[in-house]
Amino acid sequence: MDWKQIEEKWQKRWAEAGVFEADPDPEKKKYYLTVAYPYPNSPQHIGHGRTYTLTDVHARYRRMQGYNVLFPMAWHFTGTPVMAMVDRLKDGDPDLLDTFLNLYNIPRDRLHELETPVGMATYFAQEIKSGMQRMGFSIDWRREFTTIDPIYSKFIEWQFAKLREKGFIIQGSHPVGWCPKCGNPVGQHDTIGDKEPEIEEFTVIKFRRGDTYYPAATLRPETVFGVTNMWLNPDALYVEVRVDDENWVVSAEAANKLQFLGHKVEVVSEFQGKKLIGGALTVPMTGNEIPILPATFVDPKNATGVVMSVPAHAPFDYVALEQLKNEPKKFFDDYGLKQSEIAKLKPISLIELPGWGESPAVDIVEKMGIVDQEDPKLEKATKEIYSQEFHNGRLRGNTGQYAGLPVERAKDAVKEDMIADNGATTMYELIEQVMCRCGSDVLVKIFENQWFINYGDASWKELAHENLDAMEIIPRELRQEYVHVIDWLDRKACARNVGMGTPLPWAPDWIIESLSDSVIYMAYYTVIKDINRMNPDPGVLDEAFWDYIYLGEGSIGEVSEATGIPPEELEAIHAQFEYFYALDARHSGRDLIPNHLTFMVFNHDAIFPREKWPRGIIVNGSVLMEGQKMSKSMNNIIPLANAIDRFGTDPLRLALMITAEPLKDADFSPDLARSMADNLEKFYTRSMETIASPADDDFELHEIDLWMLSRLQSYLRDANEAMVEMKVRKTIHAALYDLNKDLDWYTKRVESQRERGSRRKAIQHVLRTLVETQVRLLTPFTPHLCEEIWEAMGNEGFAAFAPWPKPDEDMVRHDAEELETVIRDSIEDVQKITQVTGITPSKIHFYTATGWKWKVYLKAMKLAKAGNLDIGTLIRESFKDDELRAHNKEVPAFARVVVEDVTRTPAETLNRRLKMGIVDVTSLIEDASGFFESEFKCEVIAGNESDPWIHDPAKRASKAKPFRPAIFVE
Ligand SMILES: [Zn+2]
Repeated sequence: MDWKQIEEKWQKRWAEAGVFEADPDPEKKKYYLTVAYPYPNSPQHIGHGRTYTLTDVHARYRRMQGYNVLFPMAWHFTGTPVMAMVDRLKDGDPDLLDTFLNLYNIPRDRLHELETPVGMATYFAQEIKSGMQRMGFSIDWRREFTTIDPIYSKFIEWQFAKLREKGFIIQGSHPVGWCPKCGNPVGQHDTIGDKEPEIEEFTVIKFRRGDTYYPAATLRPETVFGVTNMWLNPDALYVEVRVDDENWVVSAEAANKLQFLGHKVEVVSEFQGKKLIGGALTVPMTGNEIPILPATFVDPKNATGVVMSVPAHAPFDYVALEQLKNEPKKFFDDYGLKQSEIAKLKPISLIELPGWGESPAVDIVEKMGIVDQEDPKLEKATKEIYSQEFHNGRLRGNTGQYAGLPVERAKDAVKEDMIADNGATTMYELIEQVMCRCGSDVLVKIFENQWFINYGDASWKELAHENLDAMEIIPRELRQEYVHVIDWLDRKACARNVGMGTPLPWAPDWIIESLSDSVIYMAYYTVIKDINRMNPDPGVLDEAFWDYIYLGEGSIGEVSEATGIPPEELEAIHAQFEYFYALDARHSGRDLIPNHLTFMVFNHDAIFPREKWPRGIIVNGSVLMEGQKMSKSMNNIIPLANAIDRFGTDPLRLALMITAEPLKDADFSPDLARSMADNLEKFYTRSMETIASPADDDFELHEIDLWMLSRLQSYLRDANEAMVEMKVRKTIHAALYDLNKDLDWYTKRVESQRERGSRRKAIQHVLRTLVETQVRLLTPFTPHLCEEIWEAMGNEGFAAFAPWPKPDEDMVRHDAEELETVIRDSIEDVQKITQVTGITPSKIHFYTATGWKWKVYLKAMKLAKAGNLDIGTLIRESFKDDELRAHNKEVPAFARVVVEDVTRTPAETLNRRLKMGIVDVTSLIEDASGFFESEFKCEVIAGNESDPWIHDPAKRASKAKPFRPAIFVE
């Protein structure tokens, strides 16, 4: 199959006809969807393909539903992702050079073009655009822009002016994720693995030895009452430091961090942790003395490097302490510890938890069978205990004034009292360590005079919740995640000192960062094409201009005068926005929920009136390669351009869409893509064969034809239901696999009838209907191949705009479907018999059930429907009938069989069969005898068990049941 030729042909035709260019059309309902514009800092690989392909599938599906669909694209030049890549390239990073030159085949003589941010972004924007075009994405390219365009900057200035007017921009000190090497705040897009640096305020409890403090950071300050010992890493470097006016002992790394947190820090001395082991510390609140014990698990990079141990409520501490007790004597001698003293350390329980024993941590460790610190179950155990105790725990009598308080309240009370007493302080720290793209660890820095967007504003959060409540969230299961993020978001640093981007209008030393200049740009696509047409001096596009085109505010005359744009053109620009906005669907990867997607909601709600708020968000998981994460080190990245060359666009699109439901990671493999190509090729071949025979309206449909058309409706129902939630895997399965299975069956069933004139026409009608429907179902997924078939069918216009197929309830024939199961089951029964006996059949006898059996069967189904089917009742009911009484020898045994059968039959089938009444199965099998004969290459005879002429040497006939004939093979 020449995929390339077909792809290029249709891409050219679409482009020439401008079919994906959308403008306002008052006759048509619009559908506006977008997907995150890429940072052009490297070429695309197939991992990028999923989110963009799904968006395209969605756009195409909506077009077929009759919407006027706008799907635009642009380029995110601003921010650190492009800049960081340029820096790595200029540093001659060998890994990056290898990736660019050998993986993506960037010509060596063009590398120099990539050594400036604009150069690199321009180069890759072209590369990515060509990939998107080759993927057949149905984008309106007339609306393309970059985020460093001067007009875009004016638009971002307007956004920030609006936020500031509403009081959502504040200046102050605040902790931010910070890269000490880059000298910049760090957000999710700046970190390796795209991890959001999540900052939490820890309580730092000051354990004391003389006038020196050993500060231990914790999220559970109330557990200070249960501390049995301190953990220090004997192999790590610790320092004694003056912190402000106190002496502290912390890890060397922590001393460095404290400076970024705004403390005055002066190192007094340095030593190995080993030196401190065995020392005694005083616990604040209780005054208890506890020992310092060695623990190599203590990470000096984590918080202060000083860790308190609460074995009754922290599974990890319990396991570590028990393991320590079992060390050989020499171990203790080396540290100058007394083994007998340590053996005496017992968990001190301070929280009472209903349903749990004295020490919940001990309980869960035993229940889960955890024996050492390496056990991955420890993490789960810790989370479980933390959450249970937080929600259901109360403090015990050994906590003084806090006794009886729920943990939820005691936590803050203990913390505040300790702080007031100088027994504790606080410290900002990352919940999980993350690395900047430059390779250095991200720290927390208290940032002075920083500009923030205040997502912590309560009134603003209310608007965001209101918007979210009205929004369609796909997949639905994720709604709670958005709720959580809205609640949790606080101040977000929105500007930095370096990089490409728009200066803050009132403080031009600051550049607006890239998670803040990309939150309302969906509105920009709607207007930029017509603004560009006017070619204004960007400098004149002030707040009044944007106020008019987005909000309809101000005087059009004044705006026209100030900008030189004629009033009717201003109106036209405003009308584009009015028509296409609000945004109906935002597509993205799931990882952007905690920032970009939620920021988008907030910013729209601040700036635009309710009717322009976003209406839907659709996210999906990522792509794995043969079950593995794609990465350079795994050597399993396939550049998108290579994948298109190797597999063809349509097979690639199908492979990306078919493997996973929205929330799961898609598992790509070259074999999968090749099998998609085979499937599509078969589909194409069969379609073309069908199309080649002429259609004829003069036909009469038989049961088997009605069966096929009825099955088609049920797949259409499946496909339609699936598309509502973009569960495209289900749609493809229905359209390609399930339907094809039935089509194979149908083809076999009618094989022997095809040459008969009147049958030929009916079969041709069924096959054409199927092709015509399947093509439309597959068009959003494999648009090029489908256009090819659509055209061959003699259709006018593009498949891309053909109506999306919907089920036709008039064509649903439950009786035809029931009858066909008789044929299917019979085939299977014969196959089983020939397999078991090894007979090559020379004759097959079908014996169908006699009339009185049908009567019993129908009575049984009626009773089952009424909910009182049992053998006794069935026999009693049967004997009310004269004919059945005449069979009083046989009825009870048969009734037993029927009760078993009917009990196992789904209610839906029972209903259908009840409606059908007594069926002439003998004629049914006689009609299909041609099919049976060609399947088994022998004569087939059907007769009722009561017919006197039947040949029944094996005495099988009496086994016949209403929907299941008995069989004898000779
Ligand atoms: Zn860095």
